[in-house]
Amino acid sequence: MKCCLMQQAAVLVFLTLLFLPAYVLAGEQQVDHAKLYFHPVNFEWKDLIHRSRLAGLQVFESDHLVLITDRPRRAGDDIEELPEVFDEAVNVWADHYSVPLSVVSDWKVCACLIVDRERFREAGLLPDSIPDFTNGYCDHYRFWFVDQSNPAYRRHLMLHEGVHAFTATLLKMSAPAWYTEGIAEWLATHRLVNEEKVFEHAPIPSSPNEVEQLGRIETIRRLCNTGQAMEIQDVFKLRPTRHGTINSYALAWSVVAFLATHPRYQKAFVAMEQGPFDERMTHRLTTHAGWKPSVGSRDFNAFISELDYGYDTDLMVIDWSQGGPVADKWLTSSVAANRGWQNPGWRLEAGQRYRLKATGFCSVGTVQGGDGQLDLRSTADGISFDWYRGKPLGRLLAAQWVNKGPQSHFELIGEGAEINIMPGHTGPLFLKINNLPGRLRECRGEIRVQIVHDESVDRLPSQQ
Ligand SMILES: [Zn+2]
Repeated sequence: MKCCLMQQAAVLVFLTLLFLPAYVLAGEQQVDHAKLYFHPVNFEWKDLIHRSRLAGLQVFESDHLVLITDRPRRAGDDIEELPEVFDEAVNVWADHYSVPLSVVSDWKVCACLIVDRERFREAGLLPDSIPDFTNGYCDHYRFWFVDQSNPAYRRHLMLHEGVHAFTATLLKMSAPAWYTEGIAEWLATHRLVNEEKVFEHAPIPSSPNEVEQLGRIETIRRLCNTGQAMEIQDVFKLRPTRHGTINSYALAWSVVAFLATHPRYQKAFVAMEQGPFDERMTHRLTTHAGWKPSVGSRDFNAFISELDYGYDTDLMVIDWSQGGPVADKWLTSSVAANRGWQNPGWRLEAGQRYRLKATGFCSVGTVQGGDGQLDLRSTADGISFDWYRGKPLGRLLAAQWVNKGPQSHFELIGEGAEINIMPGHTGPLFLKINNLPGRLRECRGEIRVQIVHDESVDRLPSQQ
């Protein structure tokens, strides 16, 4: 009887499944992977192209872009290549938002690259309904951007407005300014690789040469050094403006860079990016289980204070644990050459004295020598081969984290192979081997470090 009931139940379940629509059967997977997107409106740009040519403007076209410009042709100009770069970027954006390429294939926008706004107004290509703008403006399937002397920056502006067009139309985005501007900066930042100059998404650039005139990292550096940086909660509240300042673009980009790359917050960020792309995005992010307000805020402060070209967030994640006391016995740990600030688990008391010794060698990079790649070996005193932030490469740095709101930073309290420390704060000691963040992947090995409370300095560290 029991068996029969179970059979009946099984048949019932089977029948129910048979009559459920396919999307319900696949429901679980859709919840996990499907994102919100809308099918593009198919615009016929022929009239606009015709009108542009009559007005003596140049028109370049690719699968996803009609580019109209009054910029005169110049030798070595790369304007003709812009639509192709745009198409390559569109594939990256589609991938980022999981919009199927079959949907994106019908998406085509029209952009005006402007030297003289009047010519576009006269040709009816810059309607009066478009508000005044500084560098660029996007209205769904059309955008306008002002010509720049630097080709890299011109491309960047085109892609920045292109991301706005993509998200406004295919995602119907109406999100807070920090995300709208931050993601446009994030998805537009790129380098061109190979002889063919192929678009490669490089949201955290490796070197200033890749992003001439962009200056986002320099702006963040300046804001941190002059005490003008913002807490992440305040960047979340940035208001949208048509004349966005360099500072606000840089901050919005840095928040997206932080959330998109930091292993502690990636999950919350990805969940938020499942949509909908509305005003409640920030709320959904900050109420996600993966978001911890106080540590998130501190991690962001540390991120912007250490940010630089080639920054690799995975190697810079900070262990904020408080650690244990350092008493009259030498304690031993190690500092890896290929990471940012590290926490050996030593809690220092304000006003106490400590002695720290570091021994051994590590590799802090490579140089091209006559016989191939040579390892740059360094002790904890560092080598004068190169300097970073005013200190020799490879030098052991000791610091404490100072919590001062947007001005929070690692405060250096000693450096080198032998350090006498008298901390100004009670809290964990952080150590790192000085290097450019972009070079950490090349580094190998670790330095041995030992610490003791200074009352017992007459006892030498064991030499094991
Ligand atoms: Zn923008």
